[in-house]
Amino acid sequence: MRPAAESRLRSYLAGTHARIDLDRYTRNIQILKDVAGPDRAFMAVVKGNAYGHGAIVCGQAALAAGADVLAVARVREALLLRRAGIDGPILILGGPNPEFVDEAIEAGIALTAGSRTALAHIAEAGKRVSRRAIVHLKLDTGLHRFGVRPEHAVEVARVAQQNPWVDLEGIYAHFSSADEPDPVPTLAEMNAAEESITAIRQAGIDVRYFHLPNSAATISGLTGSSTLVRSGIATYGLQPSDAVQLPPGIEPVLSLHSRLTRVFEILPGEGVSYGLTYRATDREVVATVPIGYGDGLPRSLSNRGWFTVKGERAPIRGRVCMDQTIVGLPVDAVEGDEVVIIGHQANDMPADMIATLDNTIVYEVVARLSLRVPRIYYRNGEPAFWEDDILGESFLAT
Ligand SMILES: *Cc1c(COP(=O)(O)O)cnc(C)c1O
Repeated sequence: MRPAAESRLRSYLAGTHARIDLDRYTRNIQILKDVAGPDRAFMAVVKGNAYGHGAIVCGQAALAAGADVLAVARVREALLLRRAGIDGPILILGGPNPEFVDEAIEAGIALTAGSRTALAHIAEAGKRVSRRAIVHLKLDTGLHRFGVRPEHAVEVARVAQQNPWVDLEGIYAHFSSADEPDPVPTLAEMNAAEESITAIRQAGIDVRYFHLPNSAATISGLTGSSTLVRSGIATYGLQPSDAVQLPPGIEPVLSLHSRLTRVFEILPGEGVSYGLTYRATDREVVATVPIGYGDGLPRSLSNRGWFTVKGERAPIRGRVCMDQTIVGLPVDAVEGDEVVIIGHQANDMPADMIATLDNTIVYEVVARLSLRVPRIYYRNGEPAFWEDDILGESFLAT
């Protein structure tokens, strides 16, 4: 290993860092591909910095694992992947910033059109840069966020097909409630989308990809006649909701670690952290951990939740600060000992538990892990690559 890389690795491991297990990510994608079936293409969703896991490394790993297409939300996210040398298919989910459409088309990035106007704008941009725009037409089947109403689907698809600057590659819709226990809304939305694609095909318009399912619908088998599935959350080994059980073998990809920076004692009646919202009743050994809401740890975990030290739960004491958090120490530990903030061993706090405590969903917990946290990517249990978005540096093990 090059000395600079090794020295940085040692530094990162001595502080707050995220571990991303690329073998698990690869295996999760393979399992989900099996669940979707051999006749369906697989779109790995790596928007939001791959749900906090790191878009470039996950994008590369997803394609290597057999994903056919990557998806992001912003054109700039796709341009980042292109700049990193990823030349595979990428789709922008949702409406692109109109000012970035020319650049997207020049980079061969597929765009979503959610209206006739948006489609016309994309076609004009294609003409301007002399390159056909790859377009997926989005139907609004019930989520009511964005898209063409099913009753206009054939008409807009025909406009797309007839425009020489548009290559209509896909038609899709996004479920409103696939992660809810009640399947009725999903089935109604699926029906509307299926009727639209049938009518579009009957009108002689051929598209390569018809896609409805997200992770939840893929796992629940609500795939209809989709020729592609889109999966984000399950590829990272996280459950879309309590109502959806992950297929066997899928494991969480990310864990979050730090070190104790100060171990000390507080006396009865003494308080801890801003506002002194926690007060010791007895002499208590506590420790400071260099992680806070500036790293993405919710401040609502103040006096709730725990980290683990040597496999034991160390409860959060007082308020979570921007950069530091104090925990009660249940075991003998010294400065420099490891702390698990998000983990998957017996006593660890998993990401879904943080979501429950913060009254949110697991998506948000991982997506808001800030760029301040260096990411260490593991292969075969060993660090293979590490990335520091603050310094804009990355290191390869070999
Ligand atoms: C984010 C997103 C997905 C991925 O959803 P998961 O629940 O993470 O699998 C799929 N489709 C669209 C349109 C999205 O915006």
